[in-house]
Amino acid sequence: MDIGENISEIKKTLPAGVKLVAVSKTKPIEVIQDAYQTGHKIFGENKAQELTQKHEVLPKDIEWHFIGHLQSNKTKYIAPFVNMIHGIDSFKILKAVNKEARKNNRVIPCLLQFHIAQESTKFGFSEEEAREMLESETFATMKNITIAGVMGMATFTDDEQQVRNEFKSLKSIFEKLKNNYFPNEPQFKEISMGMSDDYSVAVEEGSTIVRIGSIIFGARQIKTT
Ligand SMILES: *Cc1c(COP(=O)(O)O)cnc(C)c1O
Repeated sequence: MDIGENISEIKKTLPAGVKLVAVSKTKPIEVIQDAYQTGHKIFGENKAQELTQKHEVLPKDIEWHFIGHLQSNKTKYIAPFVNMIHGIDSFKILKAVNKEARKNNRVIPCLLQFHIAQESTKFGFSEEEAREMLESETFATMKNITIAGVMGMATFTDDEQQVRNEFKSLKSIFEKLKNNYFPNEPQFKEISMGMSDDYSVAVEEGSTIVRIGSIIFGARQIKTT
């Protein structure tokens, strides 16, 4: 398996402006190093400790994205260096990120995760919960995070129409939030959706960031999501 070739094949199919996060979770350092050497510098991980260990030993110009469900007590490990947190799924975790970012004198770009899939196991805000948070006084005081957009995961199914509809629903949530809360904030621009099996549909429906693991690095031993 030629990782560099896999990455460049995927990039060829992505429209200009769509960012590829190579999801390297569970993969060893050497494999990430190989991908890095082919010129790719954006990687995603879903465990705080694994991400921290990899950050320590790998080149410092890698852009690290945290893509999973983050626990408040783990936030401190990644706050010093993480470039974007995709899976903000509660006000509580956003507050924790803001606090740790402040300690590090940073502003961390965050994406709000929405529950768009039919599966009940996926994390995320409802629209109502997001509105409540965005309209709260506490949110207005949080200076060490910036909301850069939204993130979602479609149902794991062969039914392409269902997947497409779920991506459409995330795009529509994005538009509503943009109009209501971030009309003059250019940093609110990202729609993180699309994985190995469904990224082409996601791109057709307006994705700006795809998070792709298996078709770059091969299947993972254990299913971690
Ligand atoms: C593992 C993971 C991915 C990548 O999944 P693949 O199917 O291997 O492309 C994308 N997003 C999240 C949140 C993940 O946990």
